[in-house]
Amino acid sequence: MNTSSGTILVVEDEAQIRKFLRISLEAHGFTVEEARLGEDGLKLCATAQPHLVILDLGLPDMDGQDFILRLREWSQVPVVVLSVRASEQEKVQALDAGANDYVTKPFGISELMARIRVVLRSHEGATSTPTVFEAGGLHVDLAQREVSVDDESIHLSKKEYELLRLLINHPGRVLTHQQILREIWGPAQQDETHYLRVLVGQLRQKLGDDPTRPRFIITVQGVGYRLAVTAR
Ligand code: CA
Repeated sequence: MNTSSGTILVVEDEAQIRKFLRISLEAHGFTVEEARLGEDGLKLCATAQPHLVILDLGLPDMDGQDFILRLREWSQVPVVVLSVRASEQEKVQALDAGANDYVTKPFGISELMARIRVVLRSHEGATSTPTVFEAGGLHVDLAQREVSVDDESIHLSKKEYELLRLLINHPGRVLTHQQILREIWGPAQQDETHYLRVLVGQLRQKLGDDPTRPRFIITVQGVGYRLAVTAR
């Protein structure tokens, strides 16, 4: 009888970090597979069918972004990337390529476990498409396009609603500025981050959300935004 909470593939070239992750993840009931190189990691994704991949962005044989792009050609397995503090750009590229979230090195195991839980939980629900999102006082009827906060109905503009819907459709995931701009304004406007800042400000105001103590929308400095609440 398999009592594992799932299989996690760790792709990391540093033996010490691999060992630390294996011990910590196994202690949390996960089965762990390991790869030192990107190529081996991609093969293991196919053969071991992990429920989640932890990917170090600094691999000797492959760019983290390339790893994710290749993986996303055939798999939607959630990916949490490990990045170093200095490489903001690398992190954004990884998210753009389809990573679900990231943790910055050095990281604590409780932080990593929290990210893993959110990503796994939101991925479970990804196959079904509920028409009503309900969490933390926010109620969005995706079929009727109706939004309310604490039972008070709120009228959103088309773009404000699109932004909210985008965040709801990617629960627990950081959406980069470029991803959101591409989705809402189109690829030609993907660098106009000030459009997005203004729109986020408007949406927050209508939702009664305070950016310094966010209830619904969290700013991920220099990267993008994520939804603060998860359904279920
Ligand atoms: Ca490395």
